[in-house]
Amino acid sequence: MTVAAPLPLTFRVSATRLAQLPESPAEVAFVGRSNVGKSSLINALANRRQLARVSNTPGRTQLINLFELPGGATVVDLPGYGYAKAPGSVRGDWREMIEGYLLGRDELAMVYVLVDGEIGPTPLDAQMLDWLRAEGVPHTVVATKWDKVKSSKRQTRKLELAAGCQLEPGDIVYVSAAKNVNIDQLRDLIHLHLAP
Ligand code: GDP
Repeated sequence: MTVAAPLPLTFRVSATRLAQLPESPAEVAFVGRSNVGKSSLINALANRRQLARVSNTPGRTQLINLFELPGGATVVDLPGYGYAKAPGSVRGDWREMIEGYLLGRDELAMVYVLVDGEIGPTPLDAQMLDWLRAEGVPHTVVATKWDKVKSSKRQTRKLELAAGCQLEPGDIVYVSAAKNVNIDQLRDLIHLHLAP
């Protein structure tokens, strides 16, 4: 088995609208509620500390951030949803932007939906998954912060998470950015999904 090297991602552009994004030969995107560990995961995939900002500031998370791999394929960090303190109108804007991107981006090969491995899918996560399913957008669930789940509880938690996401336990990738758990597995998946 080969161990996937860090993804050599470089920051390309931040956008507020789909129309501002450059063309790409193939793209994958990360989505999840604020604080789920999305920035930490993207940094871990690239083995870089500061590529994606680790922050809960809503202003910064309203951007679609696009990173590029050598050869031009792209990885997109979508704004986190469900930031508790955001006013309703801002939440509406996020929704419009995220949905516009997910439905309108032709290059999009896979959406990784991040769900907190310790606390499980929130109602907003379940809503996102229902929506992706209904719209037929290809997606994979990634459970984050897996180091926070005691090893004695992991089997049960896998079953609970899968049930909450209406999936089988084997459909979910269980990762820890903090402890570098299954980051290689996710890198391999990303390469697979970006391959023509
Ligand atoms: P984002 O808002 O989704 O980008 O989430 P962040 O990456 O900023 O992470 C939110 C919080 O969760 C931060 O305090 C991180 O240090 C923490 N965190 C992220 N990933 C992990 C992980 O794998 N394990 C643990 N224990 N904490 C994590």
